[in-house]
Amino acid sequence: MTIETAVHTYNNLIDGQWVASASGETFHSTNPANNDIVARFQSSVSVDVIRAIEAAERAFQTWQHVSPSKRAEILYKAADWLEAGLEAYAEELTREEGKTLASSRMEVRRSAQTLRYYASEGLNVAGETIPSDDATTFVYTKKEPLGVVTVITPWNFPLSIPVRKIAPALVTGNTVVFKPASDTPLIALRLVEALHDAGLPAGVINFVTGSASKTGVPLVTHPAVKAVTFTGSTAAGEKINQSVRLSTRVQLELGGKNPLIVMEDADIGQAAELAIKGGFELTGQACTGTSRVIVMDSVHDRFLDELVARTRRLSIGGGLEHGTEVGPLANASQLRNVLDYIAIGKSEGAELVFGGEQLTNGSYADGFFVTPAIFANVKPDMRIAQEEIFGPVISVIRVRSYQEALQIANDVQYGLSAAICTRDQNRIQHFIHNIVAGVVKVNRPTTGNAINAPFGGMKMSSTATYRESGRGALDFYTQIKTVYHGVQSV
Ligand code: NAP
Repeated sequence: MTIETAVHTYNNLIDGQWVASASGETFHSTNPANNDIVARFQSSVSVDVIRAIEAAERAFQTWQHVSPSKRAEILYKAADWLEAGLEAYAEELTREEGKTLASSRMEVRRSAQTLRYYASEGLNVAGETIPSDDATTFVYTKKEPLGVVTVITPWNFPLSIPVRKIAPALVTGNTVVFKPASDTPLIALRLVEALHDAGLPAGVINFVTGSASKTGVPLVTHPAVKAVTFTGSTAAGEKINQSVRLSTRVQLELGGKNPLIVMEDADIGQAAELAIKGGFELTGQACTGTSRVIVMDSVHDRFLDELVARTRRLSIGGGLEHGTEVGPLANASQLRNVLDYIAIGKSEGAELVFGGEQLTNGSYADGFFVTPAIFANVKPDMRIAQEEIFGPVISVIRVRSYQEALQIANDVQYGLSAAICTRDQNRIQHFIHNIVAGVVKVNRPTTGNAINAPFGGMKMSSTATYRESGRGALDFYTQIKTVYHGVQSV
């Protein structure tokens, strides 16, 4: 049953004004724990997006010349704003996305830190002095903003992913058109409110909600858009990649099929905890989530017993409930997708040793709950071992040697995050050098990354050219101009 109580309708932000869509239509986000409506938003169409892009194009004419320290001041204020409202924002995030309140609090806190990090890094965007053959010519480079940047983001980190794109874009002098995932526009809107109220001039950030099918084409192909930064599925990323103009820079952060290798000398308790943290925290809905655990034969049975025993103790519930460790899946299609993969795994001959059941009784009745699933006897070529499931499903693969483990770990189309659990320093070095992944973890879960360290994948997990997070993240949002400055006479 869907309950609708005092549901607020929110507008787009275009050229500094909160306005309704030209479509005259709205859609709503829902709480995945109970299917209640959270809020209503504008069902934007092309004309809204074009207005937003044109406003961003006009605003760029002045914003590009605002000093980095003034731009930084606004980001600092927005960070303070987010932190001051932390409890309320964390609750809204949980209501809309379903993750636990502890995870939501961490995301809001981290988003405020990210805004401050880029506010500070923006002051260090510098070119270089080039040694010149000609003593009368001073050669140097300067970094300039690109113009209008389109930001398209997924629902699983609906605040922190937008922040790590929007903050570096703004601090380097670009203007932004932001379209959040349709499942989680409310927490995205809070970020835009924070930036707007902190003093961003009209048109510097524009916010349009609505389905990708009605907004995607102009967001990606409009000639004024100079860069598209996208995080989401590999399928959508490929489509975007095929439609951007030659002159539009593109950054795609996509899916993963992240392995954890458990060696014979691993602390089995720690290995099980790493698998659970990586595979079941956030209900398995992290791009860096552990979905394959590749275990040495000699410790396989002990590891599997430990993994099942610890998973059995996890508490499943609505994210706002005290003590919940695993929340609901984010939406009905996520639930269908996970249940489909559980059926596929069984039909492929893998052994479902724990979980994988939809919960439908009592307080679970209207939500999208499934018990964390563990498959054993998984063969590396099975679909559950090759395709991104994006849910709480771990495939355990038994191997006889480290070489076999490494080969299986690399033998997927993705290369986002990969971990090994061992004490053997030689093995660790070999793993670091030979695993094909953008993020490598040693005795740490495949999930989690520092805000000041580069983040991104290899193969089909990312576009190779640019990384998100860390200092290098600013490179995506700037272009280099080389200056030869001579004198007329000496
Ligand atoms: P998604 O379906 O690809 O959607 C992501 C965003 O793109 C949403 O805002 C969506 O809008 C929009 N979109 C979809 N197709 C589009 C198109 N053709 N043109 C323009 N915009 C388009 O992904 P999701 O289900 O939200 O997120 C899950 C995926 O994200 C997983 O594959 C996960 O691995 C990946 N992810 C990757 C990272 C990373 O950093 N590598 C981080 C988090 C998640 P609507 O919501 O309106 O459909």
